[in-house]
Amino acid sequence: MTQVARTVAFKPGERNIFFHILTACNLSCSHCYINPDQHGREALSLETIRRWLKLFVAPGKRGNVIFLGGEPTLHPDLAAAVAHAKQLGFHVTVDSNGYLFHDFLQRTSPADLDYLSFSLDGPDPAVNDPLRGSGVFAVCVENIRKAQALGFRTSLIYTVSSRNLQHLERMVPLLVELGISRFFIQVIGLRGRSALPAAGDVSLQVSREQWLAVVPVVAAQAAARGIHVTYPKVFLHDEEGFQCAGRVAENFFIFPNGRVYQCPLCEDYPINAYRIEEDRLVRIGGLREDRFFSLDIPEGCVMNKLLQPDTIDYDAGGKPTHRISCCLLKEEIG
Ligand code: SF4
Ligand code: SF4
Repeated sequence: MTQVARTVAFKPGERNIFFHILTACNLSCSHCYINPDQHGREALSLETIRRWLKLFVAPGKRGNVIFLGGEPTLHPDLAAAVAHAKQLGFHVTVDSNGYLFHDFLQRTSPADLDYLSFSLDGPDPAVNDPLRGSGVFAVCVENIRKAQALGFRTSLIYTVSSRNLQHLERMVPLLVELGISRFFIQVIGLRGRSALPAAGDVSLQVSREQWLAVVPVVAAQAAARGIHVTYPKVFLHDEEGFQCAGRVAENFFIFPNGRVYQCPLCEDYPINAYRIEEDRLVRIGGLREDRFFSLDIPEGCVMNKLLQPDTIDYDAGGKPTHRISCCLLKEEIG
């Protein structure tokens, strides 16, 4: 069967709520973007989670809630939060590192939870565990099997860096064996620890050539095995349109300290466009992230140009060789 690649800019009319209910985590991955100084250290109470979820209900619109942390299953009330989000009409996903604390599988159900998403950064412990922690591969794979046996729909997120790109291909047979139905390939961001020399003095970033040589090929292989694959376009061709998600999508990245961002690249800076104050969603005025979304520049994503300009190449005439699309344009196949 031939797979036809489709570029999905966004799904009109939908809103995505990325809800970080705590920032604590049992792991310490080398590329973690969680920044407690900027995002807070508290775990939100179940009551607060319920009140905040209500702020994002938009009748007539599909809303996707993705519960995140830190590790969200460290929250003892995650299952109740999932059930509440479902009652409010949201499509609900939990992104876990695979540890599934507090008997999460027993306390929630496939009726409430639309997708349980696991993170693995390698097809075996030798690749995954140096990036995510000793013993993590075995725990995660065991819990994927348990979730499958209980009837949960599962997806898997693989964050590509220079340390695991060449092993991406070997994920395909593992995904098939585990029965994973959706595969998300992410590109590493220059945020949090990935930007620090502690990452081994070797850049975790991959070049455009490396990315293009591997990722679309492996995505097609996985799609040919019946898996739905999503990966960021990142590097746009001349004829491909660029749209900033901050302008054309309704994405909300909520953190425990009440900050609400629209742009994932801005999360390390106190320039959030919104804040939750006394259970109200308040738009903050002044020079905030949203003031940048409307700038049209030849490099594409404005925040990428400002925050990680070394990802952009220029030709001899000073023109960018390609535009960068950071967070929105995805290639979906399968
Ligand atoms: S599992 Fe997620 S939150 Fe925890 S350290 Fe790893 S990347 Fe960070
Ligand atoms: S990452 Fe770039 S494209 Fe995405 S919202 Fe931010 S500025 Fe817009």
